[in-house]
Amino acid sequence: MNQSSAEQRTSPARAADSMESAARERVIRLAGFDQDGIADGPGLRCVVFVQGCPHHCPGCQNPQTWAWEGGAETTPSELRDRIFSTVLDTGVTFSGGEPFEQADALADLAQMLRPRYDVASYSGYTFEGLLKLSEKRPGVMRLLRSIDILVDGPFVQARADRLLLFRGSGNQRILDVPASLAAGSAVWTKDPAWVGEDGSARVAGAAFE
Ligand code: SF4
Repeated sequence: MNQSSAEQRTSPARAADSMESAARERVIRLAGFDQDGIADGPGLRCVVFVQGCPHHCPGCQNPQTWAWEGGAETTPSELRDRIFSTVLDTGVTFSGGEPFEQADALADLAQMLRPRYDVASYSGYTFEGLLKLSEKRPGVMRLLRSIDILVDGPFVQARADRLLLFRGSGNQRILDVPASLAAGSAVWTKDPAWVGEDGSARVAGAAFE
């Protein structure tokens, strides 16, 4: 059998494989997508806003992302292609909505992006809450193992502070996820890009809690 007849016989099989693999891909319910963002982490970043949030924090900036049935469906590979097409962005942040409610699909996306991009996620759950949740939902641990930084905890209106770096309220922490998983407890990042040269995690002065 020559090469072209081999190709003729294998191409339909390859096409079928490819269609099957696309069909198997997990779905992400997307509320929005920004490129060149500067508010959700250091540098220029793509921000993936997922749809659906169980926390309903009073004072939330994105209440339109709460409903589970809102937004539009996409896939990890579609978002990967969109992110790869950006020119200046060096990081990607998952925001919401609650990213850990779509943990498996976002873990798939994060694994497509690293190590080319640093990947961060917000969550209304605390790190400790996510560890507990991961006992019932393995995807939560998959996503934790696939990201570099976690900004954790709900938005607490009484602790809102506009001088915090990359956070809305003082209860939220900027965690080094690999170090936190290794320690089995929350570990603040020391990366000055996230917490500033003085480590305060504030726009100007003041030690973090
Ligand atoms: S976790 Fe975030 S998106 Fe969800 S209600 Fe709280 S602030 Fe809003």
